[in-house]
Amino acid sequence: MSNIVAIVGRPNVGKSTLFNRLSGTRKAIVNETSGVTRDRNYGKSDWNGVEFSIIDTGGYATNSDDIFEEEIRKQIMLAIDEADAILFVVDVKQGITDLDAAVASILRRTKKKVYLIANKADNSELTFAANEFYSMGIGKQVFPISAVNGSGTGDLLDELINDF
Ligand code: GDP
Ligand code: MG
Repeated sequence: MSNIVAIVGRPNVGKSTLFNRLSGTRKAIVNETSGVTRDRNYGKSDWNGVEFSIIDTGGYATNSDDIFEEEIRKQIMLAIDEADAILFVVDVKQGITDLDAAVASILRRTKKKVYLIANKADNSELTFAANEFYSMGIGKQVFPISAVNGSGTGDLLDELINDF
């Protein structure tokens, strides 16, 4: 299979929750504590009969900010290498953080297709708040979603498979 989608972003934005929703499994560990996904998880998904593979990235098991950024950088470089498309997940409840900006600056250099996913948009107010992320200048549009209740994921998947 050639359509490989990697989920990247700083810890706790909901990458593993999104992975579990898209792959229909509970394989990725979701936790309140940052950095709980130690390994990369690989799953399969399909939308309207179009199959693709998903990679959940993580493994940010350190408290030092320097090593932390380095570790995230490594994961993203790997993801860019492996994947055809990147889902860059941010958190509407937290807004743009320094680590988000660091991730964005790495992703801006790739030629691979990057989708900016504003997760935790659980209601219409938070969906509106997702507009803040347009200032990051990643991709053509911001996709507000709720990995927990599933809202917005259909629009995202429509766009994703359309670009394969
Ligand atoms: P990761 O570190 O990026 O893999 O994040 P996780 O998937 O482990 O999620 C971190 C926390 O955010 C957990 O407490 C999740 O339940 C929560 N979370 C994930 N997605 C959503 C969402 O769409 N809405 C809300 N309210 N919480 C979410
Ligand atoms: Mg995780």
